[in-house]
Amino acid sequence: MTSSTPTTHILISGAGIAGLALALQLVRGGIRTTIVEQAAGPRPGGQAVDLRGASRDVAARMGLTEAIEPYRVHEKGLSYVDGRGRVFGRMSMEAFDGKGAVAEVEIARGDLAAVLRRELVAAADGLLDLRYGDRIIAVSQDESGVDVRFEHADAARFDVVVGADGVHSSTRRLVFGGEEQFRTYLGGYAAFFTMPTPDDIEEGWFSMRFTPGTTFGIRPDLDPATAKAMLTLRIDRDPALRGDLAAQKELIRRALHGAGWHADTILAAMDAADDFYFDELVRIDVPNPVSGRVVLIGDAGSSGSPMSGMGTATALIGAWLLAERIAAGRGDLDGALARFAEDVAPFAENGKTLMGGGIERMVPETRLQAALLRASMGVMLSRPMRPLVRRMFATAQADLPLPE
Ligand SMILES: Cc1cc2nc3c(=O)[nH]c(=O)nc-3n(C[C@H](O)[C@H](O)[C@H](O)COP(=O)(O)OP(=O)(O)OC[C@H]3O[C@@H](n4cnc5c(N)ncnc54)[C@H](O)[C@@H]3O)c2cc1C
Repeated sequence: MTSSTPTTHILISGAGIAGLALALQLVRGGIRTTIVEQAAGPRPGGQAVDLRGASRDVAARMGLTEAIEPYRVHEKGLSYVDGRGRVFGRMSMEAFDGKGAVAEVEIARGDLAAVLRRELVAAADGLLDLRYGDRIIAVSQDESGVDVRFEHADAARFDVVVGADGVHSSTRRLVFGGEEQFRTYLGGYAAFFTMPTPDDIEEGWFSMRFTPGTTFGIRPDLDPATAKAMLTLRIDRDPALRGDLAAQKELIRRALHGAGWHADTILAAMDAADDFYFDELVRIDVPNPVSGRVVLIGDAGSSGSPMSGMGTATALIGAWLLAERIAAGRGDLDGALARFAEDVAPFAENGKTLMGGGIERMVPETRLQAALLRASMGVMLSRPMRPLVRRMFATAQADLPLPE
């Protein structure tokens, strides 16, 4: 990649997967890059995320394959368990050619972020300003750039501002409008955190249990001593939950009360976890991720929620496409952003597909539905039904080619 102009200066809001990946490609292309991340330091946590198809190609084109390799979680597949931990259905990685719920390349979100950060710092070459504990508070733009005010740092002008600040993007709010215009509530909340691996858990398997109102699971980690707890709660949206850690944990306590299997182990681990993540499940649709010299990538511009299993893959693809377009534009930043908006659209749309169906399919509402779901899963995952399920997953995630 060659630089557009040596003086181009780009600001990225958010040092998640999208922000770090974009910054890496920009500094590699010789572009001055500033990132502001509101968290005080790198944010750990998150489950294994999938890299399939185009996102795996992007990781390879970014030269990350080798760096990712030691962090790959080799999951054997997904198994469904009952209240006593007995398995009643399995989706093995091999039987579904890495195209089922468990992908061929899985890496914990926190590990992928750490890999990107390391590569970024190594490539920085004096072009990077990575600031934690700060955020944009005001933006005003004209035809040639964007004036930005920060909470802490001095105001500055940039050629382009990129909102990579996630589902609740404040860049989007400041420039494109309120979140409610772009958000569709998908009927529940998700939580993830690290826990000690229970002794009786089947090594390498992502085990999951359905109960009325809550689906919860335990997923292998890179370190066999730890695992990731995941919960999906089917409840009405409650804006008061946002930022209220005590209320979030109380909700989970109530949801897992008497839920059998490892519900109590998960609850015991929840309070000790230093990477507790909780958020509502929403889809984000921004019709055009570009407004003048401000552009949205990753979840800020488009998201199908963690239920899509595609958030990280789509973020990586978007970041790479934007960096490629800026490099190829050779100083024509407006043209580059317009090309990016066209190129990213099919990937953004594809990334919103909910592979296993929506929350109605993933989290039963009543005891009867839970029993029916368990029975249907048993049948769906039986050997004769595998080709059908494989086809379902293949259609859900189209293997889109990367644009030239
Ligand atoms: C801690 C954590 C754990 C996650 N775990 C999972 C998981 O287990 N499974 C799953 O499917 N998805 C998970 N996600 C979401 C997943 O990372 C994204 O869907 C995907 O990687 C796209 O990434 P993104 O960079 O667009 O957004 P994100 O990963 O959400 O990153 C956005 C970044 O922007 C920062 N930020 C937010 N607001 C501001 C602001 N105003 N100014 C500056 N910075 C800001 C955030 O702190 C964050 O670091 C998690 C996200 C986080 C932050």
